Amino acid sequence: MNNEYRICKRCVMDTTDENITFDENGYCNHCTKVLKNLNSYPFNLNDQEKETELKKLVDKIKADGKGKKYDCIIGVSGGADSTYVAYLVKKLGLRPLAVHVDNGWNSDLSVKNIENTLNKLGIELYTHVLDWDEFRDLQLSYIKSSTPDLEVPTDHAIYAVMFKIASKNNIKYILSGYNYKTESILPPTWSNGGHDWKYISYIQKTFGTRKLKNYPHRSLIDIGIQEFILKIKRINILDYVDYNKKDATEIVSTELGWKPYPVKHGESVYTKFIQSYILPVKFGYDKRKSYMSALICSGQLTRDEALEELKKDIYTPQELNETIEYVCDKLEITKDDFEKYMKLPNKTYFDYPSYDTNPILVKMKKVYHNLNNTKYFRLDE
Ligand SMILES: [Zn+2]
Repeated sequence: MNNEYRICKRCVMDTTDENITFDENGYCNHCTKVLKNLNSYPFNLNDQEKETELKKLVDKIKADGKGKKYDCIIGVSGGADSTYVAYLVKKLGLRPLAVHVDNGWNSDLSVKNIENTLNKLGIELYTHVLDWDEFRDLQLSYIKSSTPDLEVPTDHAIYAVMFKIASKNNIKYILSGYNYKTESILPPTWSNGGHDWKYISYIQKTFGTRKLKNYPHRSLIDIGIQEFILKIKRINILDYVDYNKKDATEIVSTELGWKPYPVKHGESVYTKFIQSYILPVKFGYDKRKSYMSALICSGQLTRDEALEELKKDIYTPQELNETIEYVCDKLEITKDDFEKYMKLPNKTYFDYPSYDTNPILVKMKKVYHNLNNTKYFRLDE
């Protein structure tokens, strides 16, 4: 066992991912896999071919949405990616309904960004406000579980709400702001379980103080009905355009008046706190490394730029103190409680019951992922 620190020679992933492996050139498993995938569909298409694929996709969405008020759903967070999706789908002539889940942690700027940009685009917004007492308890349960999956309660609710609204309104497409080129790298132990209702309900039963009655969730049965019977499709539309984070940010700023945040995910106070404090301090890793490595692989950032950026502190000591106080107040715990949770032995998703602890479900999940990931959305198949 070699515990020496090592960093990839091509990206900025390092041994803070305990499962990282390196080849004889000093390149890691993450960038090696991503570069291979970027050479396959739909990333290997030239501009012309991409345009054709996108047009086919848009035509299909329009045809399936004929006679309906909306032909697709887009999720909006106030971030640059999801704002760009709104801009893009409108430009493509689609009729989206924007869905936002308010988990109580939005920064003022993010709320303004959502309202301003959607107003300008003439897109209707549906906001689902989570039951705060329940949601607060669930977030606290995750802190007590000592896993890094502190965003799972939010991520799960977002998808549950989007699929529910799609089912209700007979909308067949959910266009997400996820994109492979900027988000392709994420070690499984760093974040996991967003779609796993068994995991979430177990954590709440074990560490929570109340039942989740109003929390929007998706069980396996829901997933089956929504994706296989109603055939609602989730499409990463940004993978069909030549998506470049810098250009996209520039466009939404100049054309829609979108205002940037200091760091990625600055749209939520809690997300920023998790990524900039809890993960590096308690778990010893910095998720910026995975974002930046993805950008390096897609040629949007150089390794030197990334290394320089990683040297920067995100909080000043005063900001950090204020944020800890704000978070503890909001979660209704004392600073001592928080310190106590920070010192609990670290766990991961794999330490708790989940769909992944059932061998049959693991096999089904593999089939499902193969269908969803490798095929993308080839209309001519
Ligand atoms: Zn690498």
